[in-house]
Amino acid sequence: MSDLRELYQTLILDHNKNPRNFGALESPSHSADGDNPLCGDVIHVTLRVEDDVVRDLRFDGSGCAISTASASLMTQAVKNRPVSEALKLFDGFHDMVTTDVPADGAELGKLAVFAGVREFPVRVKCATLPWHTLKNALKGSNDVARTE
Ligand code: ZN
Repeated sequence: MSDLRELYQTLILDHNKNPRNFGALESPSHSADGDNPLCGDVIHVTLRVEDDVVRDLRFDGSGCAISTASASLMTQAVKNRPVSEALKLFDGFHDMVTTDVPADGAELGKLAVFAGVREFPVRVKCATLPWHTLKNALKGSNDVARTE
């Protein structure tokens, strides 16, 4: 287990240091902002959705290692997925960090590295902020995603 934890930490640190898909799309079809005042994480997500598939997405903003790595891994997980699958991933991820088991049918892959944050309620908000923001963007909501 300790080896696994180490591997997970390495992955999170790597994505924090070199976030993937960082920036903003020039003419997104969807976008949303997220704010986690508890930690000071702010995020802006832009997406290009065509034929109900997330063709491209980016994120920017500033946040702690957990929120940045979570956003980075989220963009990789969601890119080129149908919107329905992206929402299923949201449910799976949310269930994984708030309960014991991911939702049925959600193949979380690398996202499983965040299972450990379940023990740290404050960190759960950091890890889920990008996902709440993504969900708001996909739903066309103009509300700022808040963790409070
Ligand atoms: Zn945070």
